[in-house]
Amino acid sequence: MSGRLTVLSGPSGVGKGSVIAAVRRRYPQVWLSVSVTTRAPRPGETDGVEYHFVDQSRYDELVAAGELLEHATYAGHCYGTPLQPVLDKIAAGVPALLEIELQGARQVKAAMPEAHLVFLSPPTFEELARRLTDRGTEHGVRVRARLDLARIELAAEDEFEAVIINEDVEQAADALVALLGVQG
Ligand code: 5GP
Repeated sequence: MSGRLTVLSGPSGVGKGSVIAAVRRRYPQVWLSVSVTTRAPRPGETDGVEYHFVDQSRYDELVAAGELLEHATYAGHCYGTPLQPVLDKIAAGVPALLEIELQGARQVKAAMPEAHLVFLSPPTFEELARRLTDRGTEHGVRVRARLDLARIELAAEDEFEAVIINEDVEQAADALVALLGVQG
């Protein structure tokens, strides 16, 4: 049996990380892909856990070698999903989850049409702005850059097969679990 591949997308600050953490507390068997990125680690982030932190030349090598399932530039940094671990998990029947932005989600759908695209949406744009500001990981100009990108991402919601509104993290996690194809 092959595992289902689910792509969770949605604007920065909407709470993708919190919803995924809630899902994995209940279902540790759900595998979450670890992306590569050229952005610097935030305080508390560990190489190999939240991301594989790489420099630009290593990233360019991975792209050139075809080792990324998808890759995109977001707010001035490069991000990509290592291909082989995804193939391995699907082949092993493990439910696999990617947490990536819009351009990447589109590339995954083109490469693997059987992937399920799920969009996590904020209750309102104002609430998203508040969450992104309160998170405190980005400052002034960068918050504005991410909110500009958020408008573009929210306008693409219709491209997704399912939309979950993140009003409440546990309820959003319930909705995501139902879409993941998790057993037991
Ligand atoms: P952050 O810098 O806040 O960790 O991530 C910025 C955005 O990049 C988020 O929307 C996140 O979902 C997305 N992202 C993280 N990893 C990947 C990836 O491998 N590919 C793509 N396309 N987007 C990613």
